[in-house]
Amino acid sequence: MKIIEGLYGFIWQSPSENNCNSYLIDGAKKILVDPGHRHLFQHVKRGLAQIETTPEQIDVVLVTHGHPDHLETVGSFGPATRWAMSRIDYEFVMKYIGSRVDFPAPAFFLQEGDLVLGDKSFRVILTPGHSPGSVCLYWPEKKALFTGDVVFSQSIGRTDLPGGSGKQLKESISRLAELDVEVLCPGHGDVVAGRENVKKNFKTIKDFWFNQL
Ligand SMILES: [Zn+2]
Repeated sequence: MKIIEGLYGFIWQSPSENNCNSYLIDGAKKILVDPGHRHLFQHVKRGLAQIETTPEQIDVVLVTHGHPDHLETVGSFGPATRWAMSRIDYEFVMKYIGSRVDFPAPAFFLQEGDLVLGDKSFRVILTPGHSPGSVCLYWPEKKALFTGDVVFSQSIGRTDLPGGSGKQLKESISRLAELDVEVLCPGHGDVVAGRENVKKNFKTIKDFWFNQL
């Protein structure tokens, strides 16, 4: 589905099976955020097909963090597709799966700061807490924020998985809440659209969830 000009969301809606939302930023370069589980790659393929795009045409795949429901499919695009995630989460994943890894190494690592891809500029924000090297991606031109599993509509990422930290998640969410965001694109669940709704969402999270961390 088209979210705003140049941004499409492939929102995962099955209640019985877990997978992440994937997003396509369509410009001089085609950038896909979070490709999801391998056995559910059809979801991404179908979303791309609706806008007459194939996986081979994706220039860059960006992965918010190292959990399999976001990461697994990085190797399923074209031979020219490059992919990236944070070094911290990559090393974390390698520690767990090591020699069983069945996808190529990242072409580059996502680190805190500016990221320019084709005609688009982003800010990479290191947001540990759900995983040690989670990153969020802020797109100032559209005031869009891709939050992975840090923040959702009305909820937050779990902190009980290896490398998780409630204290860090709180700090990460507080940093994100400072940004001017008009569309919040989470790794699971609904997109939050509209500046006021995004603000309200951060407020709900601080009021309710921060007490649980
Ligand atoms: Zn996750």
